[in-house]
Amino acid sequence: MGSGVGGVRAGEIRLIMKVGRERILVSGVDHLSRQSTAKLKETSMKPRDYQQEAVDVLSEAIDSYDPSHVFGLFSGGHDSLCACHVASRHPRFTGCIHINTGIGIEETRQFVRDTCKQYEWSLKEYEPPVSYEQLVVEQGFPGPAHHWKMYHRLKERCLRELLRDTASPKNRRRKLVFVSGQRKQESQRRMVTVDSAIVTGEKNPSPRIVWANPLINWTGSDKDRYIREHSLPRNRVVQLMCMSGECLCGAFAHEGELNEIRLHYPKAAAEIDRIAAEVKKAGKHCVWGTAPPGKKNKPDSRQMELPLCFSCTTKFESGINETA
Ligand code: SF4
Repeated sequence: MGSGVGGVRAGEIRLIMKVGRERILVSGVDHLSRQSTAKLKETSMKPRDYQQEAVDVLSEAIDSYDPSHVFGLFSGGHDSLCACHVASRHPRFTGCIHINTGIGIEETRQFVRDTCKQYEWSLKEYEPPVSYEQLVVEQGFPGPAHHWKMYHRLKERCLRELLRDTASPKNRRRKLVFVSGQRKQESQRRMVTVDSAIVTGEKNPSPRIVWANPLINWTGSDKDRYIREHSLPRNRVVQLMCMSGECLCGAFAHEGELNEIRLHYPKAAAEIDRIAAEVKKAGKHCVWGTAPPGKKNKPDSRQMELPLCFSCTTKFESGINETA
């Protein structure tokens, strides 16, 4: 076979790879030093160390901001389970926070309590000052466009209380690190919009908060592998329903979701039915999981970025994608 342009033989593919400081010509094997070949093999065979990545994100958040507390936000889903486990291995870990919105599958809350007990993680549950029932009796069940209100009333107020509980009189600006289980790969939108594993300086709800997302680049397989390797308990609710269900405001519920809940967790469904009867008596929109008639059925983009509802927004987006 004769030589082609630039000495490349016809049909030959040449690839230059960078390994450390060396540039290596992969196809021109005769130009490779033995040392470089060994390095290349070692590099290409080394699996991505997803666990170290997570530890590095968390360490960077803690080293950069010297927070007074490092809390794992434990919803009861498997992402938050892994995030809390990663956080718990750091010496500055304080404990876990669970936001108990008062509407959800009790078995998941119990899973959170049991897991924290098993690993001796301190756990603090926060409840909103105004209950879900009161909110929907006053305003009706929310559709996607009303999620903002639910988020603020049910979740953000709990965070505000936590911020008050942890404020130091000597340094009121001292940061807290919240470790969340958010992963980019769950959502096509997030693959574009999320560009940092550590987010701070946002007013939502306070610039004191540093959001650390150590699992940000994990795949679903990384998460499963982590659970297996560390023998973490799995939440049966997640296994049955593909969601943790600890919070069921209904803003992002999919069609038929209440029936699925009824099938596996009839007590949670009965509670929604009971509240729906009260909402109906009050003359408000009383069909859980649907938008009020004549109202928008789409949230604006701000509502898709709220940090404590990412599993619901992901579920909602995947429903849109399926039907698109
Ligand atoms: S969207 Fe989901 S996580 Fe957010 S308040 Fe509603 S049910 Fe809870």
